[in-house]
Amino acid sequence: MERIADRASMRRRSEESRRAGLRIGFVPTMGALHDGHLSLVEVARPGCDRVAVSIFVNPLQFGPGEDLERYPRDLDGDLARLEAAGCDLVFTPEAADMYAEDARTIVMIPELEDVLCGRSRPGHFRGVATVVAKLVNLVQPAVIVFGQKDAQQAILMHRMIEDLDFPVAMRVAPIRRDPDGLAMSSRNAYLSGEERREAPLLHAALRTIQQGLADGERRSTTLVERAREVLARGKHVRVDYVEIVDPLTLRRKGTVTGPVLVAAAVFVGSTRLIDNIVLEVRDGEVREVPLRF
Ligand code: AMP
Repeated sequence: MERIADRASMRRRSEESRRAGLRIGFVPTMGALHDGHLSLVEVARPGCDRVAVSIFVNPLQFGPGEDLERYPRDLDGDLARLEAAGCDLVFTPEAADMYAEDARTIVMIPELEDVLCGRSRPGHFRGVATVVAKLVNLVQPAVIVFGQKDAQQAILMHRMIEDLDFPVAMRVAPIRRDPDGLAMSSRNAYLSGEERREAPLLHAALRTIQQGLADGERRSTTLVERAREVLARGKHVRVDYVEIVDPLTLRRKGTVTGPVLVAAAVFVGSTRLIDNIVLEVRDGEVREVPLRF
């Protein structure tokens, strides 16, 4: 596995790959890798000659008072895991190299960036969009993979790729969960024992909405209320949002019809966790479906 740690070398390597006609599958990450991240490597592989992963804790997507400084970092462990997973190239740039002092350009995705997680994390998705735009230009992948875990992020990245004609195909990987339903996340490492025991309430709350739909309830306010009741069972759980929205526009759905994104964010202690499911209601049947475009 090759490791490249600076922009100029990454650019040279991409140019060589392009001349050699190699198709790169690319997985952007912030490191502290778990099985969820590694599943994205597998999704990147089909149809590609090389898989590249970036590890970059992007300061631009953290707000003041968020966990940039204490975000978990384990570069040696990450490199070993990627090597074992058959990753071909890992790109580990430094923030000072990624963002020149005179850099000014940012990528905004109005409306989509302001709802759900964007409401409590102002500026977050501009940071994501800007770094992904830069990474795509540096790595020049044929395929880019995002996890459904960060559904809003995937939806925004799909929008950006379409709107700006990025020459890259996007794939979305399903959410990897622990056996009790908790979505794998680098931030799960922050949870105390008691918090970890309560954290699966987040997924249980989403399933309550699925059950409510299966029972015939279609009013979003009632469904969301039931989910909040589940979350209220956690002593350490504080709700940021529970919403039922259109999976493309992220607009709230008053009544559930067609495909919906059921998304929630909670604080468990001081750790912010997110989760989602996409449900399709058709002919009175409710099924979970993958997020796709
Ligand atoms: P992060 O390192 O948290 O920025 O995540 C990098 C990529 O991995 C993003 O596209 C995430 O959506 C994805 N990811 C994180 N956790 C999971 C998971 N549990 N299952 C699937 N994909 C995930």
